[in-house]
Amino acid sequence: MTAQEIIKKYISFFEKRNHKRISNAPLVPENDPTTLFTSSGMQPLVAYLLGEPHPQGKRLVNVQNSFRAQDIEEIGDNRHTTFFRMLGNWSLGDYFKKEQIPWIFEFITKELGIPSHKLYATVFKGYKDIAKDRESEKLWIDIFTKEGLNPKERIFFYDTKNWWSRAGEPDNMPPGEPGGPDSEIFYLFDTLHDAKFGRQCHPNCQCGRFMEIVNSVFMEYQKEKDGSFRKLPQKNVDHGAGVERLLAAVENQQDVFQTSLFAPIIKAIEKITYKRYQENKKEMRIIADHMAASVFIVESGVLPSNKEHGYILRRLIRRALDNINVIRGFENMMVPTRAISESIIENHKDTDPQLEKDSQRIINTILEETNNYRFVLTRAQRFIKDKYKIGDELKGQVEIDSDDAFFLYSSHGLSPTQIKNLGYVFDEQKFAEKMKKHQRVSRKGASKKFAGGLADHSEKTIMGHTATHLLHQAIRDVLGNRVHQTGSNITTERIRFDFNYDNSLTLDELKKVEEIVNKKILENLPVHFEMLPLKKAKKLGAIGLFDEKYGDKVKVYFIGNYSKEFCGGPHVEFTSKLKKFTIIKQENIGQGKRRIYSKVS
Ligand code: ATP
Ligand code: MG
Repeated sequence: MTAQEIIKKYISFFEKRNHKRISNAPLVPENDPTTLFTSSGMQPLVAYLLGEPHPQGKRLVNVQNSFRAQDIEEIGDNRHTTFFRMLGNWSLGDYFKKEQIPWIFEFITKELGIPSHKLYATVFKGYKDIAKDRESEKLWIDIFTKEGLNPKERIFFYDTKNWWSRAGEPDNMPPGEPGGPDSEIFYLFDTLHDAKFGRQCHPNCQCGRFMEIVNSVFMEYQKEKDGSFRKLPQKNVDHGAGVERLLAAVENQQDVFQTSLFAPIIKAIEKITYKRYQENKKEMRIIADHMAASVFIVESGVLPSNKEHGYILRRLIRRALDNINVIRGFENMMVPTRAISESIIENHKDTDPQLEKDSQRIINTILEETNNYRFVLTRAQRFIKDKYKIGDELKGQVEIDSDDAFFLYSSHGLSPTQIKNLGYVFDEQKFAEKMKKHQRVSRKGASKKFAGGLADHSEKTIMGHTATHLLHQAIRDVLGNRVHQTGSNITTERIRFDFNYDNSLTLDELKKVEEIVNKKILENLPVHFEMLPLKKAKKLGAIGLFDEKYGDKVKVYFIGNYSKEFCGGPHVEFTSKLKKFTIIKQENIGQGKRRIYSKVS
């Protein structure tokens, strides 16, 4: 069974149970300034889980390409990859535990053919005043009993490990925040427990004998002001399962990197490094993972740089190159990344055909970064050789001052490990102190984004969202209907809005746009949405970015009679909530596009 077949079976299993397939959201989210990458299927659906109606109804299914920068340090074990595909199904206030748990068990055992005796379940044990999840426990007892297995040996209970909310464990949740228990399925491999990870093995032990394959979250609670929890009127199911891990379970292959999806990529790495996987597992896992993630990130339009998405991409490519260099020695800096990229594209093109169409651009972008990095390393070595008067013939380790090591880091973008890999030793304590100081200054506010968060649905961003619709229409009023939005990004501080227009706007034009938006705010127009067939919505003249690929119905937001736009929401109910709209500045962003920064107060 291939990854592609697992995806097809899952989608059709849930379509047969009246779910509507929704599209795979872009890997770089369009309208979510709190995070750099889409890291789960649920992330683009938060507004709907919080109560916004979804145009496709209450039962949804999809496969979501996901990237978790926060898992980067886990790469090297048998089951984590930064890029993976998540199968998701959702109930938005429709079915609940008694449907979800038996369905997912049926899917795994009947559709994928995974034997039931390999499976274990985890259930929420209860935490402080929140009760144990007895309903899930009962469902699992019935399932395992029917299979002739002893439920006492199959069900494990955990407290906060089996709890989900956007803020994490119950204690960290702010008042008003929804959350709930989750129930996971683990697959048991036929390996021995590694005592390094604890006396006894259990599903959440990190030794790799158990692997989490699916997780069903049951959103049923809301935290109250006094810290207690009440049951929500709308209960949701949010289910996620990694395709790569399901494939490992189907193949009874404990190592995700040795499944049929990854094994050919590892072979390509063995070929170019002249080394064997068996002796270089950790490095080759990092190379395979980071290169695969890079291929997908480049495909989504990101270029290596020193900022945000580009920085993560650069770090992935350079870390992969470092590991290639570690296992094959430093004599030859020519790294044929082309062969690895090609193998990744070849092995993923069934599920993601766009990779093949874009293959030359992807391969060349990675090659270019490979060459850039080689240049940086050569320059760094030249700097040290000149300063310390080292001849080319000198081999082995060279001691350098921690100030020089730090200079290499800050001016050449090398990490301490990379500097050590070049053969230089330095006072690491002193280096760490300098780095800490440097990071405090340069990383202000960025940490949350790198950790990967969830869409911000604060009042201020919701106001910004509604203002964007007004701005879009006002720009068309002033500049003509040929002009349309090409992108936007909203934070609590400002609204960034991109559109196609060749010239810079005159002061008069900017003033007019601002006046129109403020007039619509004063008119206190009501905001509402309607679910409409796509054809009808287009006929009505609804505008906006529309990329839903599978739906026959779309959601259109109306602001009085003034604006009609495709949008998922949420929005304010009346425009007067925005009070005042101000344009801050405009910019030319190239390729016939302009950008306006504005704010509401
Ligand atoms: P883990 O504890 O193994 O890191 P998780 O609790 O972070 O997993 P969830 O956030 O519940 O995982 O994601 C749902 C499913 O997505 C998991 O059951 C797993 O199948 C898959 N998954 C999550 N993280 C990864 C990853 N880094 N690599 C591969 N699959 C993953
Ligand atoms: Mg995890």
